[in-house]
Amino acid sequence: MASFARQIARVRPLIKFNGDHAVRAASTTTESGGFSLQLSPEQLEFKTTARKFAREEILPKAAEYDRTGEYPWDLIKKAWSLGLMNTHIPTHCGGLNLGLLECVTITEELAYGCTGVQTAIEANSLGQMPVILAGNEAQQKKYLGRLIEEPLMSAYCVTEPTAGSDVAGIRTRAEKKGDQYVINGQKMWITNGSVANWYFLLAMTSSDPGTPAGKAFTGFIVDANTPGITVGRKEKNMGQRCSDTRGITFEDVVVPKENVLLGEGAGFKIAMGAFDKTRPPVAAGAVGLAQRALDEAKNYSMQRKTMGKLICEHQAVAFMLADMAIGVEAARLLVQRSAWETDQGRRNTYFASIAKAYAADVANKCAADAVQIFGGNGFNTDYPVEKLMRDAKIYMIYEGTSQIQRLIISRELLTQTKEEKK
Ligand SMILES: Cc1cc2nc3c(=O)[nH]c(=O)nc-3n(C[C@H](O)[C@H](O)[C@H](O)COP(=O)(O)OP(=O)(O)OC[C@H]3O[C@@H](n4cnc5c(N)ncnc54)[C@H](O)[C@@H]3O)c2cc1C
Repeated sequence: MASFARQIARVRPLIKFNGDHAVRAASTTTESGGFSLQLSPEQLEFKTTARKFAREEILPKAAEYDRTGEYPWDLIKKAWSLGLMNTHIPTHCGGLNLGLLECVTITEELAYGCTGVQTAIEANSLGQMPVILAGNEAQQKKYLGRLIEEPLMSAYCVTEPTAGSDVAGIRTRAEKKGDQYVINGQKMWITNGSVANWYFLLAMTSSDPGTPAGKAFTGFIVDANTPGITVGRKEKNMGQRCSDTRGITFEDVVVPKENVLLGEGAGFKIAMGAFDKTRPPVAAGAVGLAQRALDEAKNYSMQRKTMGKLICEHQAVAFMLADMAIGVEAARLLVQRSAWETDQGRRNTYFASIAKAYAADVANKCAADAVQIFGGNGFNTDYPVEKLMRDAKIYMIYEGTSQIQRLIISRELLTQTKEEKK
């Protein structure tokens, strides 16, 4: 498979119109004339490349990586060489600067193969996003450029043992000493924790406990090989077992002031702002898993017979498949809407949370129903669907739990209504 990404720079200027319809190019600058569900030739090419890679290379290895929990370096390196990673890194750092619609299209395909692999790749984007949103040119060239030159990973270090949903409750502190900051604290549940080359880290810089969250925290880029960093054991999780989840301790870790993002006190907004761009791909991962569950269940139901019929011919089973399809199609549209809003240059917080909450529910329902359709076989590791059920749960937890998504959606809804009434 040749690297499609490397061809993009050559073909991109040619992709503007397809017949009478304006077609969005991969860059976020060209806008479609109206509502369209048609992918541009370029988007279709990304989808095809990701689908081929996921189905021919990720999927056959997924069960073994799930069993061993080994980090899937070979797949990560291949995804990198195909241009399926780091898709939103700006062009001045050597990246493709793709739109979010392209990212979610690729992510759904990768997740179909294995969501453990997809999470490892997505966490890399999460680590980068604060630098993409708030980094200056030198920081971006140094830290994002590295990820384009070599298949290296990054990680997002925000959660702590005592604070996940309550981000404002984190205790890691960064103290300014001359031209440097000294960081002390403990992070927890960090995806890519042991493999990342660098971290985005959120720490408290205000010594006044009354300082509002919007001013109390600072975002740092921290090289993973800085003295004082200790990476904990690989956590044994329910699902997505090849993804690397770790606790990380920071003890008198010295970071130069050049590695502060935007400025002291700007960290909370940067850390939270990243989610508008990363929740749509996370939701796309859930859709990929749900689609896989549907396909597995559909294929099985067309082979297995009971009471003289294929089980898909029992209405009870056929309607389960129909409900799975309804969920998958609806969730996919929500993911696309949330990505499209961003690509149109609009704030997508509301749609990103709706997409993530809904897609997570759909993934869990589809995976559980797929296990049900497989009967006893569904409960067994020789069949693929029990893994899907274990893998699905995390979509309701990381990057903001389903309760936190509903908190955001309701807040956005009420704020919008209050403003309309003014
Ligand atoms: C596999 C995995 C990978 C992860 N990767 C990363 C990573 O790369 N980087 C990172 O920084 N973090 C990461 N996390 C952390 C993840 O984002 C948090 O676990 C998550 O935000 C929930 O926080 P918590 O675990 O502290 O749960 P809590 O915040 O303690 O929540 C417990 C329960 O209470 C509910 N709850 C909490 N507050 C409210 C509220 N105000 N209203 C209603 N319900 C509420 C929650 O929804 C949940 O059901 C990861 C976690 C896991 C398990």
